[in-house]
Amino acid sequence: MGKVTGFLEYEREDRGYEPVEERIRHWREFVLPLPEADCRTQAARCMNCGVPYCQGTGSLAPGTPGCPVNNQIPDWNDLVYNGDWDEAARNLHSTNNFPEVTGRVCPAPCEASCTLNIDENPVTIKSIECAIADRAIAQGLKPERPALRTGKNVAIVGSGPAGLACAQQLARAGHTVHVYEKWAKAGGLLRYGIPDFKMEKLHVDRRVAQMQAEGVTFHYGAHVGVNVPAQKLLAEYDAVVLAGGAEKPRDLPVPGRELKGIHFAMEFLPQQNRRVSGEPAAPGEPILAGGKHVVVIGGGDTGSDCIGTSIRQGALSVTNFEIMPAPPLHENKALTWPNWPLKLRTSSSHEEGAERDFAVMTTRFSGGAGGYVERLHCVYVDDKMRPVPGSEFEIAAELVLLAMGFVHPLHEGMIKSLDLALDRRGNVSASTDDYRTSIDKVFAAGDMRRGQSLVVWAIREGRQAAHAVDEFLMGESLLPR
Ligand SMILES: Cc1cc2nc3c(=O)[nH]c(=O)nc-3n(C[C@H](O)[C@H](O)[C@H](O)COP(=O)(O)OP(=O)(O)OC[C@H]3O[C@@H](n4cnc5c(N)ncnc54)[C@H](O)[C@@H]3O)c2cc1C
Ligand code: SF4
Repeated sequence: MGKVTGFLEYEREDRGYEPVEERIRHWREFVLPLPEADCRTQAARCMNCGVPYCQGTGSLAPGTPGCPVNNQIPDWNDLVYNGDWDEAARNLHSTNNFPEVTGRVCPAPCEASCTLNIDENPVTIKSIECAIADRAIAQGLKPERPALRTGKNVAIVGSGPAGLACAQQLARAGHTVHVYEKWAKAGGLLRYGIPDFKMEKLHVDRRVAQMQAEGVTFHYGAHVGVNVPAQKLLAEYDAVVLAGGAEKPRDLPVPGRELKGIHFAMEFLPQQNRRVSGEPAAPGEPILAGGKHVVVIGGGDTGSDCIGTSIRQGALSVTNFEIMPAPPLHENKALTWPNWPLKLRTSSSHEEGAERDFAVMTTRFSGGAGGYVERLHCVYVDDKMRPVPGSEFEIAAELVLLAMGFVHPLHEGMIKSLDLALDRRGNVSASTDDYRTSIDKVFAAGDMRRGQSLVVWAIREGRQAAHAVDEFLMGESLLPR
């Protein structure tokens, strides 16, 4: 424990944002890092709790306390307080392959579970994590090449955080790793879903370069089950890990859904990320919010990203509807802590000018000339999702973005051609004991196994699956579980 009285002496201070009027004029990150001295002061607030809920309990259930990758948070808080940034970086990388990513986009269940959150002043764990990672990267990311090669080959399908973490762990264990990615670049939703203003893509590029130097081979435009037969991977590799995400979006099949101008979030967001990085557009008409009244349906992370992107594109207005009732502004700590609480969360994108409303159900879309959507017809619902009589209303909508989550992985292509067993939610069935699917030597990890989740869970699953694959190939594994 760095400073015994730190939590009594110092108030919580976290990273700030560029003002709204400046940040909406560009696509870059706008979070302002804490100066080194402030980071160390904030780390001094850590109490090195006897039971540090921040670092997780090892439970696998969603919503359980703390960090899903079990970052050793009190240890690196102490190291940062004492100015030993190198050891802090070594410690952090021992549990998390991409802490600069989680330091930017993780919702920080660690902070919700921090003992100091009991009075709403948790240690600024996420900002300290990001500072440790960014300082280490500024000194140059060095490849960690294995001392011995095992002669075993592993194919990984998908280069999102689960596939990348799995690939890095297996390459460091000495296996020959090939990653198959259907898109033109690596990163999955880190690259094509999460907008640049939340996380610039150089963070992914750097890690890909590090992994290439560690011996990982990336195959782009390689759509397994479509232009790369899944059976070919089974024939050519000693093990195959499926980390293809949960890409099937939840639809809104109400009258008028066929009108032009109604799109899934993941039709809209990747286009903008490609524009920012200068990547050629994928086939299909450009979807742009500029000069339009935009309605975003769905109140989660994906909806927030659609809001921030629409505002930066110059939307006339952005309205965000959520079918669930508004959650409480503050949670009842006595009931919720140290678990992840249900409460109203206002993202930086919401602050940029979106109107939000809750308990709103869309009943139909209507359009005009050319078959384009013009209006959204809605009704308020009660706590049992029943329409409230007389509460019907309508709103102008020239672009509608559906951000209501993802139901499961795409079944067409790879999953069907391998005839994989699915769980009752339609995800690839594999247990967290060994990550093995219904087919011999085929493993699954990340959103493809778990369903729609978070980056930090994907990293955890990639690491755990790597341990399982290593053990399967070698009879034992020194990779951490
Ligand atoms: C818009 C958006 C914003 C989000 N924001 C956040 C956030 O701020 N913080 C957070 O923690 N989480 C966020 N999430 C969730 C998070 O991004 C995912 O949980 C995480 O990326 C899942 O990782 P994954 O590796 O399992 O899958 P993905 O990231 O989905 O990667 C899967 C990869 O597999 C590839 N693939 C699929 N099938 C095949 C195939 N047959 N052949 C070859 N390649 C294939 C895909 O092209 C993709 O690159 C967000 C999600 C979305 C949609
Ligand atoms: S719960 Fe908070 S105060 Fe306690 S060890 Fe973790 S970060 Fe430090």
